[in-house]
Amino acid sequence: MEKTCYEMTSKTYYDQDANWDIMKGKTIAIIGYGSQGHAHALNLKDSGANVIVGLYEGSKSKAIAESHGLKVYTVAEAVKQADITMVLIPDEKQADVYKTEIGPNLKPGSALAFAHGFNIHFQQIIPPENVDVFMVAPKGPGHLVRRTFTEGSGVPDVFAVYQDASGQCFDIAVAYARGIGGTRAGILQTTFRDETEEDLFGEQCVLMGGLCQLMKTGFEVLVEAGYPPEMAYFECFHEMKLIVDLCYEGGITKMVNSCSDTAEYGSYVIGPRIITEDTKKEMKKCLEEIQNGKFASEWLQENRAGGRARFKAMRRLAQEHPIEKVGARLRNMMPWLKGQDKLQF
Ligand code: NAD
Ligand code: MG
Repeated sequence: MEKTCYEMTSKTYYDQDANWDIMKGKTIAIIGYGSQGHAHALNLKDSGANVIVGLYEGSKSKAIAESHGLKVYTVAEAVKQADITMVLIPDEKQADVYKTEIGPNLKPGSALAFAHGFNIHFQQIIPPENVDVFMVAPKGPGHLVRRTFTEGSGVPDVFAVYQDASGQCFDIAVAYARGIGGTRAGILQTTFRDETEEDLFGEQCVLMGGLCQLMKTGFEVLVEAGYPPEMAYFECFHEMKLIVDLCYEGGITKMVNSCSDTAEYGSYVIGPRIITEDTKKEMKKCLEEIQNGKFASEWLQENRAGGRARFKAMRRLAQEHPIEKVGARLRNMMPWLKGQDKLQF
């Protein structure tokens, strides 16, 4: 391991650090009603804030948001009324919607907010100087931001102030995080740059890219060696949650304590043969490509000129992988997972 500082360096803020009164009389417009949008809107509403939703004409989410007791407007109309505009539409669409509907309607002195730093950091959106710009980014999927809130807990957030026109932007950001339940778990201050780079690195190398490739490769090795795919699924996929839950609760120490010494010994000697020094080198290269903007420009290009052809092809291939077919069949036999195969909100 390289010599690095692993000391704790960030201050964490909790409920008692938030000045919720600052939300009094403010209208919060949530733009988009997807994974994050529905969670922010409903949590803020339950916290007592005045929330409206901005959607494009003909959006399927309109009826859903209205059935949740929220007023829905066009994006332009919602922004015009807002003291805080939280942009929760897909990152690759934000710049276009900002140019036509958000930017021209921002009230001077109001706040423009994001749940991911991408468009500000990579300068796809350049806000005027007379608005606050902040970020509150939950470190978890939107559906859990909602579910944990209703259960009385919360998902931690990172937050950042990019531009403080009002002199109150920090307080507004912390209050916003309280409204969605983030300060129940703790929120960390960061910068748009750090959040963007870390978030992209995490999802690419560890959480989604690395993890799914690891599970699929393990599954393939067992099936190609003649083991039944159902067993391979239980071994390399289903059990992942059980293992990760133990790590989540009590670190690697609790997880290995719950497993046999044989399993623990095997994990120490074989782990580094699977995730090797070369893997680490490649991760560093991926991080560089995030930092120098190579990944961002490739993804923006894929959306602009490519019509997402490559993305769609890769998505189809992923969905057709045998682990998905076997998994769907097996999960269907687990009564507690019935009907949970699709996102619902
Ligand atoms: P999503 O795809 O789930 O939802 C997008 C919503 O925007 C949908 O309701 C869609 O109908 C709406 N929309 C699309 N085009 C629109 C337009 N032109 N005008 C108005 N509405 C439009 O998106 P998401 O995953 O919730 O991501 C939103 C933001 O939150 C992104 O910045 C993302 O990086 C960030 N974020 C997401 C997660 C997550 O768990 N998904 C976690 C942290 C941060
Ligand atoms: Mg992410």
